[in-house]
Amino acid sequence: MKKRKTIALVAHDNRKEDLVEWVYYNWQKLKSHKLVCTGTTGRLVTEAFLKKTEATVDVLPEIIKLKSGPLGGDQQLGSMIATEQIDIMIFLWDPMEPQPHDVDVKALERISVLYNIPLATNRASADFLIASELFDTDYRPKSKDYSAYINRKV
Ligand code: PGA
Repeated sequence: MKKRKTIALVAHDNRKEDLVEWVYYNWQKLKSHKLVCTGTTGRLVTEAFLKKTEATVDVLPEIIKLKSGPLGGDQQLGSMIATEQIDIMIFLWDPMEPQPHDVDVKALERISVLYNIPLATNRASADFLIASELFDTDYRPKSKDYSAYINRKV
């Protein structure tokens, strides 16, 4: 994992305020990294940065906006994790309401565990993650060895 990280940001509607607040609070630290967001989250994150930087677009971090989560954005993100393009994910999902794309939400969590991506699913964990001394290093998460599974006899 390089010093400049690719950080996925996703929040369900009832958690978007939390995420925007978190981005707003941590914008100095986040601005040198690449951010990958599901559609609506990405729009709000961009707006938060514009507010902080007084609408100077040239100081915005690189913010990739995927499709909206329920329209396939979670699956796009899952595919980026499987191809090792994501270093960290902040995924504030809603514990109080079912989502139309619950299966995608589950898949996204599963793939991030499989690939050993640092994952925060609530604000406090996101705070701990960004405050970690490992955040600004080139820490490499150890991948599990799946060769026995890949080479199994079927
Ligand atoms: P959204 O998607 O950022 O487009 O709202 C989030 C999600 O529900 O996965």
